[in-house]
Amino acid sequence: MSPRDDQSALQQRYQEERDKRIKNSAARSVQGLEGEFAGYLHDPFADTGFVRDPLHKEFDVVIVGGGIAGLLTAARLTQAGISRVCIVEKGADFGGAWYWNRYPGIACDTESYIYLPLLEETGYMPTRKYASGLEILAYCRKVARHFALYDNALLQTEFKGAQWQEDTSRWIVRTDRQDVLSARFVVLIGNKLHRPQLPAIPGIKSFKGHSFHTSRWDYNYTGGDSRGGLTGLSDKRIGIIGTGATAVQCVPHLARWAKHLYVFQRTPAPVDVRNDRETDPQWAKSLKPGWQQERMDNFTAVVSGYDVDQDLVCDGWTDLARNVKLAAVRKLRAGEVIPDPDAVVQAADDERMNRIRARIDATVRDKSTAESLKPWYRQACKRPGFHDQYLDTFNQPNVTLVDTRGKGIESITTNAVVVDGKEYAVDCLVFATGFEYNSDFTRILGADIEGRGGLSLSRKWQDGAETFHGIASTGFPNAFFIGGMQIGYSPNFTHMLDISARQIASVIAQARLRNATTVEPTQEAENEWVELIVKLSQAKEAVLRECTPGYINNEGVLDLRARKNRLYGGDTVSFLTRMDAWQKDGTFKGLRFV
Ligand code: NAP
Repeated sequence: MSPRDDQSALQQRYQEERDKRIKNSAARSVQGLEGEFAGYLHDPFADTGFVRDPLHKEFDVVIVGGGIAGLLTAARLTQAGISRVCIVEKGADFGGAWYWNRYPGIACDTESYIYLPLLEETGYMPTRKYASGLEILAYCRKVARHFALYDNALLQTEFKGAQWQEDTSRWIVRTDRQDVLSARFVVLIGNKLHRPQLPAIPGIKSFKGHSFHTSRWDYNYTGGDSRGGLTGLSDKRIGIIGTGATAVQCVPHLARWAKHLYVFQRTPAPVDVRNDRETDPQWAKSLKPGWQQERMDNFTAVVSGYDVDQDLVCDGWTDLARNVKLAAVRKLRAGEVIPDPDAVVQAADDERMNRIRARIDATVRDKSTAESLKPWYRQACKRPGFHDQYLDTFNQPNVTLVDTRGKGIESITTNAVVVDGKEYAVDCLVFATGFEYNSDFTRILGADIEGRGGLSLSRKWQDGAETFHGIASTGFPNAFFIGGMQIGYSPNFTHMLDISARQIASVIAQARLRNATTVEPTQEAENEWVELIVKLSQAKEAVLRECTPGYINNEGVLDLRARKNRLYGGDTVSFLTRMDAWQKDGTFKGLRFV
């Protein structure tokens, strides 16, 4: 067979696998955690007896969300001289996604030297190339202490909404602890990994065994902690549903401790090499001031396909960008003539996915299990996973992969999971079924806000987000947003969060400098930004349309709402260049200060 025949055979296989998923519409449904499922949201890490008096107080800025975006915003505000900042946070501590997600094996897939922000400011050096969740959580606390953010923090407190008061030009923020906070500015953070979801499998409510979502890991039941040691499982049959990035990390730990582990798979994950290692103290000592920003910028340039002398991070993400995503761009930039750039990218993609599939054959002894674990789609369709033990786990005699071949689980009974008519009895079900990635911003936030004339944000954004630079929206003066929409994309997402945080801090500082009562975008500037986002989104849809449904392609629904809610679709360097030029211009173009 010629390479072209190979390529088209592969494309046909991809198409068939995608169609399997699409045919089974029931397999696409998920269940939000409300009503009788609300118990899954219980915080297992907090002191349930915590009480305090309601707070009625005035702040310069109220930030909703104490994860990395909230910490960065507060840090950048502090550096800009704005100190009366209050962070409202649902968890009992800072950390956000790293507070909630403490499942065994949790670690970051992005290099810690670029992912953990503010390393030079705090004087901290991560212990490994890929920091564990435990280390990241501890670091978030360190950042909060460094910038004295505990002083005004309202932890274990849920945001319940905010109204703009025209007469006082203040936001009134309410919480579930009856706090009434008055603020000149609000910053609302809607992290896409904030609202866990369950699969809507028939019978799920009837299950009488133990169960929990991976973002609320029940160590009282399993024993151990995020480093492992799940001694409570030695006599338990465990079922885990889902095989995304979370499952890839916790499956080896469940397998090590459970009497038996059933892994229920709908679509296999692409699992590449991880290559973790300890931080070299000599290297750490050799770093010069400014090293972290330089490393972040280098990573961004490499993953955006720019020719740089050195790939400082040199990991799976930079490899993916250099050798697949931007295979054609790099050749074109180097002056090569390429008649069909798409074919070059596709060939590089095929080569990488073939390597990932070959790794499965080389690792998993049982041929049928190995076949089931192979991902049949292009790399861009699923978030890549990186793990060096996941595949080997399926060689253990106490581990069974139950491949639903794209169909999903048939039903759940009082004590079992049913696939193809066969019952798999389990004592405990672990839902590694992800988050409401594509839900509306206000649903993720947990409450709505009312801007000028009583306009609610949920109403304004009902057909997709409408922002200027992803951070502000007309009709909502002095309100800022950080969500996973309309800002730059990078596998090092904290870098993008920092861009928003710096921009918000500079706008607030500018409002103060100008003695302005309000700041909001002009309608014209907002329209222009939304148009750009939609145009760049559309340009990516040819590939997304061919993918198996998943959160990356909004489960296959590619409409205007999805386009508006997506991240900036151009390369990351072009996003940063735009933001940099806007900042350097110094006139705060597109914003109206009154
Ligand atoms: P996820 O990637 O959304 O994966 C959810 C899994 O549940 C998928 O395997 C999905 O199958 C399955 N699933 C969902 N609904 C189902 C249903 N109705 N029936 C059967 N199976 C169902 O969630 P995640 O693994 O928690 O990861 C979420 C995101 O968090 C990642 O993409 C990443 O951004 C981040 N994360 C990062 C790290 C890291 O840095 N190390 C680790 C964990 C998570 P299908 O594939 O068939 O849809």
